[in-house]
Amino acid sequence: MVSRRMGPGRIGREKATVDFMIRLACSGRKHQDRGPDGLCPECRELRLYALARLDACRYGNAKPSCRSCRTHCYLPVPRERIRAVMRWSGPRMPLAAPLYWLRHTFGKRSQAGGR
Ligand SMILES: [Zn+2]
Repeated sequence: MVSRRMGPGRIGREKATVDFMIRLACSGRKHQDRGPDGLCPECRELRLYALARLDACRYGNAKPSCRSCRTHCYLPVPRERIRAVMRWSGPRMPLAAPLYWLRHTFGKRSQAGGR
């Protein structure tokens, strides 16, 4: 699930990350009414919103990581929700998906020099 391709380049990676973190938070926090996709209605909505924001990102694949981006493209409410997801899932990423996490963390550095 983690390695599923969400598209090429940086946007695809960010999408895969946000997708994974939302899923991790939703199942880990045992949200109610999770559907066959493993997400509760609220997280499903948040996931769609986050993926759509990435699709609409004005920086495209040259984007900085969302965390350090200066453009605040999230509306306040989903921004708070996604923050809560990151706060919860962030520290759990190394345990939940060690290889993925390593690639994500160290991939950033090699990417920066490579382009
Ligand atoms: Zn949920």
